[in-house]
Parts: sequence; C-alpha cells; structure tokens
Amino acid sequence: MARVSSTERSRVRRARYDSLGLCGRCGGPRGDAIGKTCAPCLAIYKRDRRRNADRRIAEGRCRECGGQRDSALVYCERCRGRRKEQAKRREGWWVNYRAKRHQERFDAVLKHYGSSCACCGEADPLFLTVDHIDGGGLAHKRKDGYGSIYHWLFKNKFPKGFQILCFNCNCVKNRSKVCPHQMVENKNAI
Ligand SMILES: [Zn+2]
Ligand SMILES: [Zn+2]
Ligand SMILES: [Zn+2]
Ligand SMILES: [Zn+2]
Repeated sequence: MARVSSTERSRVRRARYDSLGLCGRCGGPRGDAIGKTCAPCLAIYKRDRRRNADRRIAEGRCRECGGQRDSALVYCERCRGRRKEQAKRREGWWVNYRAKRHQERFDAVLKHYGSSCACCGEADPLFLTVDHIDGGGLAHKRKDGYGSIYHWLFKNKFPKGFQILCFNCNCVKNRSKVCPHQMVENKNAI
C-alpha cells in the first residue's frame, strides 16, 4: 500500500468535513462563520500564523514560507507572486459574497414592506427603493452611518416608518407634497 502523507490525509479529512458543512479543522459545527472554519479554530489559526510570522520576520526570513529573502520586503519573491494570485481570487469571492448577501437582504426587505410601489403599484424590483415615510432619509443615513438602507433594515429587524416606492414616486416626494399619481384627475386616468 502506498504511503499517504499527513498533508494528504488532512486534505481528505478537510474535504469530508467540508462536504458535511462542518469546520474543516475541528469537525465541529461552523456556527455563523463565513468561511469553512469555525470562529474558535479561526482565532487559533490566526494567532499561530501571527506568531510564526513574527518569528520569521525577526530572523530575517520570508514571513510566509520561512525561506530566504531576496530583498528588504518581508515576503520572498515566490510568496509575493502567490499572494498576488490569492488576492485576486479572494477579491472575486468577496464581490460574489457581497452581491449575494445584498440580493438576499433586498428580497427580505421587499418581502416585509411589500413588493410593489405603495403609490403607483410598480412591481419590477429594479425600480423599487425604500422610502422613509416621514422623510429625513439623509439625516437618518448620516446619523446611523449605514452604507445601504437594506442592510440597516435587515439588521434592525424591519422597523416601522418605511415603505416601498419606485424611484419616480420616491423622487417626487422631494419636489412636491403629493405625487401626481395621487392627484384626483390623474387617478381617474390610471
Ligand atoms: Zn473548528
Ligand atoms: Zn516565501
Ligand atoms: Zn411608483
Ligand atoms: Zn406615485
């Protein structure tokens, strides 16, 4: 029987845990971890990594592989190349993750506040926005410093005082008290 290296064994073990949705290091539940490692394991991993890195830097070796350094930079040439590749891959992953999360929260917000414009009934999600019913959207944004109202609503468990409007009806609120859709003569025409 061929000898199986310990790295190969641990790779197989990680793959099995991963397929079961468990932490790749301890095989326990992942909790709400974003990646494949549970929070306590990730903390240990990061701590060890940092310790090793500090030691290597102090000894004048490559921060990542402990190999010989060819310049004043803390990574050797090989590791610098690999890190660049890694950064590119991670960026892609992060962009996808953010887009997916945004979509999930957007959907949840529409599900809660209604999935069409409260004024004209527009139902295409691409046209829909969240409206602060009593105004003050900008002040609210400045005060709570959120990036996206969808994330804020989600995190704050969908508070009252918001409704769904299409971009048109939402913009009109800044210009006139009443949306043309709600004026009697237009209402009959719709
Ligand atoms: Zn774990
Ligand atoms: Zn290196
Ligand atoms: Zn509308
Ligand atoms: Zn309207």
